[in-house]
Amino acid sequence: MAITMNELTIEDAISDSAMDLLFFEPFYAHFFSSLNRVISEEIPTACIGVDRDAITMKINPIFFLKELNKQERIAVLKHELLHLGFAHIFKKFNGDRLLLNIAADLVVNQFLNPFPIPKGAIILSGFADLKLLPMQSLEYYLDKLQTLADKMQKQGWFHGSKKKFDWNKLSNPRSAELLESISRNWDFSGHDSWGKIELTDLESNSKIGEMLERAKKVNRRKILGWNSQRIPANHQSPFWQRFFHRLEKSDPASRG
Ligand SMILES: [Zn+2]
Repeated sequence: MAITMNELTIEDAISDSAMDLLFFEPFYAHFFSSLNRVISEEIPTACIGVDRDAITMKINPIFFLKELNKQERIAVLKHELLHLGFAHIFKKFNGDRLLLNIAADLVVNQFLNPFPIPKGAIILSGFADLKLLPMQSLEYYLDKLQTLADKMQKQGWFHGSKKKFDWNKLSNPRSAELLESISRNWDFSGHDSWGKIELTDLESNSKIGEMLERAKKVNRRKILGWNSQRIPANHQSPFWQRFFHRLEKSDPASRG
């Protein structure tokens, strides 16, 4: 079968989902309208990052059309947009990139409500024996995961290790099993541009704050679960400036 399903093309599916997003989540739709979008089978699912100086969302057409229902498609778009809203794509990071990705997913998947969490998504309950608190920062989850990974590494584990481990020796065996399994199956192509974009720190908090404030004004609907205080943004850059510029152009409130 081709990558159309019920005659729906990938372009139709994305524009339908963008309309749904606009109706149910205008705040996120506002972000979505200012992004580059690329349809690509080179990535397994969907991802957001910086591609040739532009904030870009890439979507695998087979994943989007065949593996997701209508509600899940909105959830996937919102998931990626949350990574942008939380500035995860601009986090400077030299540590374990898998842990960074897991921590970022733990953050954003708490905000998908009212849309369903896609199957296989990384959520807090998967790490139940780590007793992670909800609604914490990326750094909080990263720290907890790093502590877990350190304990596992003391047992000889590393990403890609083929050895069979008995995690029952640890105090968090279920979490260790999950981390091991995610590591084994992880495709790093998704968030691969993360952490590689060097941005200056200047005025970043206020810039991202302004963007959020503006988005809130444009969209009078209640913004569920959004708390700009929690945005760990510390970056400003030509990327963001361009993004703000485009946002401004698309913002009816700024046209006076
Ligand atoms: Zn993600």
